Amino acid sequence: MAGLKARERRERARRDPSLIKEHGSAVAYSYWLCRCETCTRGNRDRQREQLATRSARAERARQDPSLIKEHGSVTAYSYWGCRCDECRSANTLRCRRWRETGTKTVMDLNDTEEI
Ligand SMILES: [Zn+2]
Ligand SMILES: [Zn+2]
Repeated sequence: MAGLKARERRERARRDPSLIKEHGSAVAYSYWLCRCETCTRGNRDRQREQLATRSARAERARQDPSLIKEHGSVTAYSYWGCRCDECRSANTLRCRRWRETGTKTVMDLNDTEEI
């Protein structure tokens, strides 16, 4: 559903380019899905910045471990970038649980079809 909406937005922007106020902005790239040179470069710069912010944050947490309140939480793993045993195994578990739930749904559907 979200994919369809995104496609509609892109079509609209293609038909009426004046909708995009500022090329190279996050809105032009993520909302209007413009992939012109300026927007692609802008997105690349933002990603690089984000990566820098994230590694700076991880560095901060390394220097002051008290910043991480709860190891094994999503916040510790994703926000602070902590990769201690507890955070890593909690993340693996989260991924596995998500995968298992997804697989289970498919299996249930197959069972119903066989009957
Ligand atoms: Zn653009
Ligand atoms: Zn941790």
